[in-house]
Amino acid sequence: MKTAKTVEEVRNLVKHCKAEGKSIGLVPTMGFLHKGHGSLIKKAREENDFVIVSDFVNPIQFGPNEDLESYPRDFDADCKLCESLGADLIFHPEPSEMYQNPHTTVDISLLSDGLCGSKRPGHFKGVCTVVSKLFNISKADRAYFGQKDAQQLAIIKKMVKDLNFDVEVIGCPIVREEDGLAMSSRNTYLNEAERKAALCLSKAIFAGKDAIHKGMKVCELQSLMSRIITCEPMAKIDYLSVVDLENLQPLEEIHEPVLVAMAVYIGKTRLIDNFFYEF
Ligand code: AMP
Repeated sequence: MKTAKTVEEVRNLVKHCKAEGKSIGLVPTMGFLHKGHGSLIKKAREENDFVIVSDFVNPIQFGPNEDLESYPRDFDADCKLCESLGADLIFHPEPSEMYQNPHTTVDISLLSDGLCGSKRPGHFKGVCTVVSKLFNISKADRAYFGQKDAQQLAIIKKMVKDLNFDVEVIGCPIVREEDGLAMSSRNTYLNEAERKAALCLSKAIFAGKDAIHKGMKVCELQSLMSRIITCEPMAKIDYLSVVDLENLQPLEEIHEPVLVAMAVYIGKTRLIDNFFYEF
């Protein structure tokens, strides 16, 4: 496996791949990789000749009071995981390689207004900008994103359609710990008590999915899930929304396909989880 720190290095490798007719799969990440990222890399490996993993803590998707400085990083461990999963290239640029200020941004406002977008102003502008750059740098045929970040996935799909990027966006299921907690690099912030408390998210997710299956209405569903979360004294709901999976607009009645998404603070750590339901 190769590592690259500059856009030029990636471009040169990509040029060779394209000349040989190889397909390219891209897995964009912010590093501190776990099995959730691993599932994306595995799928990319199965479906492409050349697999690029980007490992970049993207500063412009963090708000001024967010955890950019403390965001966990372990590049050596990331390299080992990528290598063990058969990735061909890990792209690990410095922020100065990606952004020369002032720089162009890509914004998709409609789908960014609700859910995490309303709580993290500018976040999705940062995501769309970096992902657009990664698409252009990697010339990927396919790009892999986790359903864990459901709003991000919907936004990237819309951006690709609207801006005619020539890449297939592939959504991959949420990978969970054995006890149900969705894997996340931010889980490392949790102390032992918070780690236990964080199970209220997945408990609410599983109960919510079951309730929709049994025909529960939107407001009852939201109060059932909220109750499960607020039973946990360390938990504070940031949002809990029932929306259309594609346009992310709030639903008053359940219709397909529905996305139930939430962000919950466990102490100071903000965790997200979701499920979607197709009848
Ligand atoms: P991140 O490094 O957190 O920006 O995540 C990089 C990619 O991995 C995103 O597409 C995420 O949705 C995906 N991802 C993160 N955690 C998980 C998980 N538990 N299961 C599946 N995909 C995930």
